[in-house]
Amino acid sequence: MSLIEQNKLRADFPALTQKIRGKPLVYLDSAASALKPWPVIERISHFYTYETSNVHRGAHYLADEATKNFEASREKVRSFLNAESTEEIIFTQGTTGSLNLVAQSLGKMLLKAGDEILVSELEHHANIVPWQMIAETTGAKIVVAPVNNDGEISIEKWSQKLSSKTKIVAISHCSNTLGSYVDIETITKLAHKAGALVVVDGAQAVSTIPVDVRALNVDFYAFSAHKLFGPYGVGVLYGKKELLLKMPPYQGGGSMISTVSFEKTTYNDLPYKFEAGTPHIEGVIALGVGIDYVLKVGFEKIHQIEHELLDYATAELSKIPGVLIFGTSKHKAPILSFAIEGFHHSDVSQILDQEGIAVRAGHHCTMPLLKRYNVSGTIRASFSIYNNKADVDALIKGLLKAKEMLL
Ligand code: PMP
Repeated sequence: MSLIEQNKLRADFPALTQKIRGKPLVYLDSAASALKPWPVIERISHFYTYETSNVHRGAHYLADEATKNFEASREKVRSFLNAESTEEIIFTQGTTGSLNLVAQSLGKMLLKAGDEILVSELEHHANIVPWQMIAETTGAKIVVAPVNNDGEISIEKWSQKLSSKTKIVAISHCSNTLGSYVDIETITKLAHKAGALVVVDGAQAVSTIPVDVRALNVDFYAFSAHKLFGPYGVGVLYGKKELLLKMPPYQGGGSMISTVSFEKTTYNDLPYKFEAGTPHIEGVIALGVGIDYVLKVGFEKIHQIEHELLDYATAELSKIPGVLIFGTSKHKAPILSFAIEGFHHSDVSQILDQEGIAVRAGHHCTMPLLKRYNVSGTIRASFSIYNNKADVDALIKGLLKAKEMLL
């Protein structure tokens, strides 16, 4: 990509124009949250300025407009995931909300004592704890498949953990700590053959690769808007219609009902059955704008930018003595987790912060995974479309400075 093209893209993200502690911001924490482009920021501001109104219950112009825009966003998500119907797109408060919804609702419908829920070692806490909670109430058991040293799931080892007792497979599409992608298509085929349903945590995948839920044939797919250049507190749960129809509601309240009496309540149609209360209206609308933005840039270009940076950063980082990289899969997202022998990850990240460089340091909500590598934390630099080689150079310079200062 030319420098002009790159600068044009960077200009879409106003956060990059600021200085942090007197230094230009070097934002290498997109795996935690992506920066927001102008169209997303402006859409939220426009909604609050002119369009504020509730959805699905108004009898006036603004309410109708809000409902129209809210539902148009549902259609954008449907198309983005290639789901069959908008009835299969449920708005939640994020990946965490989506996974709790499916764990509680599907778990209640499906699980009994002795059943198994198969997860992998690389899961985010959001794809572990909700399953532990439903396992506790139903008597089901969590079974864990290992990752290899490169941070990949070996299909052979995975298959050994599958059995006729497996009822649910809960798996990440991409590890937020190691960056490795998981072969969801194969895992889904194997799960279905064993009679299990597949729930995918797509939080780290949706902004880096196109996702086609019908081609993957997954049963559920969860993601958050804020990692897709969109707003906070909003996300999506995709679920196959035939399953969602059978599942009990997760939360009760307004919007999710058809009729209410003290004797008996009947529930609304899909997807509203799973959307109790006033939703994150401007968030849902701006999520649609985030999707428009991603599609305008295009996944091909996203891949090209991010992988050039990942390769460059991996090569440069490897030159620093004492650096240990976690997650060396060939098929990975632009996430670089590492440690520097003899230095604590928090001390290093604090010095980087003084230089205006934002990385994440710690367990990245994947404590069991870090235990598998025998470390308490890593430094994680993650790249997105607005990063450039100068950002990588700044990181390397910052790390060398940190080493010098901490010696
Ligand atoms: N799963 C993965 C793989 C993630 O990276 C994250 C966010 N770090 C989550 C789940 C949870 O997402 P949220 O906090 O937006 O609900």
